[in-house]
Amino acid sequence: MICKLTDNELVSNIKIKVKHEKLIVVEVLNYLEEIDRRKVFVDYGTSSLFKFCTRILKYSDAEAAIRVKTIHALKFAPIIKEKIKDESLSLTTAASLYSFFKNNKITSRDEVVNKVCRRSAREVKEILNSLSNNPLPRKLTLTLPEYLLKKLEKVGLDFEDCSELEVIESLIDKHLEQVEHSKAKRKPTKASTNQRHIPRDVREAIDKRAKNRCEGVAPITGKRCNCRVSLEYDHLRPIALGGDNSKNNLRKLCKGCNQRAGVKALGLHKMARGTGPAETTPSTPFFMENTEAGLQYSFIMPGR
Ligand SMILES: [Zn+2]
Repeated sequence: MICKLTDNELVSNIKIKVKHEKLIVVEVLNYLEEIDRRKVFVDYGTSSLFKFCTRILKYSDAEAAIRVKTIHALKFAPIIKEKIKDESLSLTTAASLYSFFKNNKITSRDEVVNKVCRRSAREVKEILNSLSNNPLPRKLTLTLPEYLLKKLEKVGLDFEDCSELEVIESLIDKHLEQVEHSKAKRKPTKASTNQRHIPRDVREAIDKRAKNRCEGVAPITGKRCNCRVSLEYDHLRPIALGGDNSKNNLRKLCKGCNQRAGVKALGLHKMARGTGPAETTPSTPFFMENTEAGLQYSFIMPGR
């Protein structure tokens, strides 16, 4: 019973609890880091680590954002984890470091990390501003009136669950798609010799089928991803493994689903290297079937 403790016991006990709390934070980061590396969040019907944190782990938006930014900051400077462990760096500062490293070309990142250790939020801001070699990013606040939202829905974009950045990215993607289409219309003749080039009619057929949404289906929830941001054409059976550019061998996937498919097909090692040549024999044959939720893509693992 806490109310029976002496004042001294109360303070010494809370110190122990806080120590445990901080250790747990590092353990949680280790788990999130591995989930991000394997892109496991895709299997749970969430197209990003942030969405996994809010929907599956029930973090608030702000809690999730700080953790996700910290995970990305670790990619720039792994030393950050040690600093969080020895309590010289808070998660909030780690998250600020991510934004800083993303916007600035810095060679001595560890030095920057050391400079912001044990500093207050105001001091961290000042230090990072003084080290910045880029002007501060332009801030854009987007508030769309109802009539404009209706127009966006008409062109197949609705922004439920999207951040402002995602809204802007989808609009730019949509615009670039149109620019690419009009360019292709102007130069229709010469057939591409690039094996990876997907003919326009095939792309249009896939776009029609996908309705501008990710076609990935999460194996755990059985639900289609439906993400509208950062969509890419993905070969079900890679060209390097004998796949072709037919409609049935192609699907539209968001970045998260695409990376998860890559991890399952080629393994983490090759995905991490990013340039690994495909094996001559597929280690994980792919299968595609129509389900109520959409196109279901399955991978049969070796040994079955
Ligand atoms: Zn997806």
